[in-house]
Amino acid sequence: MSINLLDYDLHGLTELCASMGEKPFRARQLLRWIHQRGESDFARMTDLAKPLRERLAQQAAVQPPGIMSESTAADGTRKWLLSVGAGNGIETVFIPEVNRGTLCVSSQVGCALECSFCATGRQGFNRNLSVGEIIGQLWLASKALDEARDAQGSSRERIITNVVMMGMGEPLANFDNLVAALRIMLDDHAYGLSRRRVTVSTAGIVPGIDRLRAACPVALSVSLHAPNDALRDVLVPINRKYPLKELMAACQRYVDAAPVEDAETAASRAPDDPARKWQRDGGPRPYISFEYVMLDGVNDRIDHVRELIELTRDVPCKFNLIPFNPFPDSGYQRSRPEQIRAFQETLMSAGLIATVRKTRGEDIDGACGQLAGQVVDRTRRRLRRETEEAA
Ligand code: SAH
Repeated sequence: MSINLLDYDLHGLTELCASMGEKPFRARQLLRWIHQRGESDFARMTDLAKPLRERLAQQAAVQPPGIMSESTAADGTRKWLLSVGAGNGIETVFIPEVNRGTLCVSSQVGCALECSFCATGRQGFNRNLSVGEIIGQLWLASKALDEARDAQGSSRERIITNVVMMGMGEPLANFDNLVAALRIMLDDHAYGLSRRRVTVSTAGIVPGIDRLRAACPVALSVSLHAPNDALRDVLVPINRKYPLKELMAACQRYVDAAPVEDAETAASRAPDDPARKWQRDGGPRPYISFEYVMLDGVNDRIDHVRELIELTRDVPCKFNLIPFNPFPDSGYQRSRPEQIRAFQETLMSAGLIATVRKTRGEDIDGACGQLAGQVVDRTRRRLRRETEEAA
């Protein structure tokens, strides 16, 4: 089986090069060819020695997931359905805005967490994505968007400026592959994104939050959705394992751990030490983003806001209210716009920052919580639900 070079971050590629008797700088060259130039043909990697190119062509490949279909929404949002084998498909969404472009990336085929209001959760779970399948989404989208831009003859500005791990799956449940993919996103030889522009979103896996802080601190979003354990146990069942008190403490630890080093320690670091980049970026964001889906009559009352303010009192945070995006048989409805506004205003009058997420790509089922992809469910969740409903 050939090696997929998309599976490797700088560290992994350096080891791979060493095993082929190549110097470490070859790894940096390869990363630049693959990720900055989107090149998959070794013959065109002209600054690599010919024998190396030939050897790579025999033993390795740059292999992203295959594109099954692609759609563009009326608002310019683009969605790709990508094949990851055995009948499974994952979705990736690009959201263009005036001063930035955000790619929403999936981390798993389906999701095991069963949040009651999420279409991905309904699909069941098949497996974790590999590093190459995660970074392959960015690789493919960058290439497609660059080609579209070049065809229009527009300026050579970067199109994808932000990545959010908010597609299908729970990123912290696929920890090692997530971290390797994040490192490629941040690497100056690859995509060179800043830590503040790469966001991991989690339903609240507490040990994962702590591990991420140590391994690769980037911007963190937490899908809160409820202000107390009784309600959150129902909406986000992982809450039964990691209740709100523990989750809030983990959020506090995450924000506190953005140390700015003294000049001497910083200067003592090797040039390729990732901590250098952390320092230059100023670390991850000094706050947590709390996502809160607005479900009519479920979690959107003003007394819920009061509880929320109390709950998050000690955590530097911002709120992002997400109007619920419907999908068939969800059993929920979107809160009324007046209710969302009142909720937002109550948060703001307590001195908190609260925005309402603009729904994008709804007409192509590309909005938050609508990514269903194509999941061969190994958890038999659909079967279980149908049996329950029939009973
Ligand atoms: N598993 C991670 C990553 C998914 S991010 C997490 O839970 O954070 C996708 C975001 O959209 C999450 O905040 C999720 O709770 C939210 N979401 C899920 N279903 C939704 C729906 N139907 N309408 C609006 N938001 C939804």
